[in-house]
Amino acid sequence: MMKILLVEDSATLRHAMSQYITDAGHTPLVAESGEQALQLLEDNPVDMIIMDVEMPGLNGFETTALIREWLGDHWIPIIFVTGMSEDEDYRQGIEAGGDDYLIKPVSKMIITAKIRAMERISEMRDQLNALNSELEAISQLDSLTQIYNRRTFNEQAQKQWLLASRQATCISALMIDVDHFKLYNDHYGHPAGDACLVAITDAIKSCLHRPYDLLGRYGGEEFVVLLPDTDKAGIARVSECIKLSIANKSILHEVSPTAETVTVSVGGACCPQTSGHSLEGLIKAADRALYRAKHSGRNQYNIDEMTAHRTVVIAHPDVEIQQQASQQLQQYYNLVTAETADEALELSLTIRPDLIILSPAMADHHGRLLSNRLSTTKRTSTTAQLFLGQPQADTTDVQPCVTLPLNQDDLLRMASQLLSI
Ligand code: GH3
Ligand code: MG
Ligand code: MG
Ligand code: MG
Repeated sequence: MMKILLVEDSATLRHAMSQYITDAGHTPLVAESGEQALQLLEDNPVDMIIMDVEMPGLNGFETTALIREWLGDHWIPIIFVTGMSEDEDYRQGIEAGGDDYLIKPVSKMIITAKIRAMERISEMRDQLNALNSELEAISQLDSLTQIYNRRTFNEQAQKQWLLASRQATCISALMIDVDHFKLYNDHYGHPAGDACLVAITDAIKSCLHRPYDLLGRYGGEEFVVLLPDTDKAGIARVSECIKLSIANKSILHEVSPTAETVTVSVGGACCPQTSGHSLEGLIKAADRALYRAKHSGRNQYNIDEMTAHRTVVIAHPDVEIQQQASQQLQQYYNLVTAETADEALELSLTIRPDLIILSPAMADHHGRLLSNRLSTTKRTSTTAQLFLGQPQADTTDVQPCVTLPLNQDDLLRMASQLLSI
């Protein structure tokens, strides 16, 4: 069933034709003039239009030209119904954007058949659109802006994320959303909206200078940027630049409550340490910051810094005990496990954990206490230590310890106490 807009100034014809439409199993929406048709279309998407040509005010050709301009790429069939039958009238009708041309008086059979024919074309259009979306998903670039589409952006960003993890560098993301873009589209039309998105893409690009900076179109009017090796101050600089270069484009937005020209809101998030975080989490944090920027009045940026998770090494020769110890702690900390003292020492020197949970038995390994080695080595001297099980009697200092069999709540409480110092 289709929704068909009937534009006809004669009351008699309006009545007859809308009956034909209903009889053919479709829903008529009726306008008495071109002006009324334009108004109705603003709030009522329709599948087809049947348009009288001779009307007072805007005639059918003029109305059609305006509708085509307003709809942009979104095609719907428009059939003219007219008393004029010259070849020149026909040419003008097709030129104005009509798809067919019927001469009055139109019989019920003819109009029903035409509606059916146009319906078939509409179905083909829908299939084509679906295929195009599939094609776009396979291709790497967004067809309008020629920047990465969401899928490609995610793939490329994931590579950068892994690199940042390996190199232990900070990594940042921005989410950019056009302010009051729905109003822009409603006021200037969809094609103008598309052109605006292209101009915004241009402005954002002009602020990204490093070869590894990534830009993608995330959704309709949402852009995403990944900035490897960029800290909070860097995000602020890039955000400021984007805001400025969009302002410099001076794209008029007469109906925006925010400014006279098109503006964007930017949410930024910076992740100083990737461990314990994910790319997805970074983008979510940027999205939350964007939300704050919108709610604080738009045309501004807001930046979030993701807290670094604490890292805990669990060093115990018994894998079962390692697992018991990990169960609760892994919800709160980055955990790394080691089975031997050598391994624990090497790990601690590289990752500099905030806490090491160690077996006293292991501490005796090599004849020297792992614990002492850690305390006296500069890189690990600030790492807190917690023993799993009573330390050997010959240990002189009183060390924090959790007894075995392990009580997970005790372990978590001790660990968080040691880490909050
Ligand atoms: P806000 O300031 O809160 O972001 O307001 P907004 O109107 O921009 O909000 P919202 O995100 O709800 O509106 C997005 C609108 O963007 C919806 C649609 O009209 C438009 N839009 C989305 N994708 C496209 C596109 O590809 N082309 C055009 N022309 N418009 C689009
Ligand atoms: Mg008429
Ligand atoms: Mg949006
Ligand atoms: Mg928006």
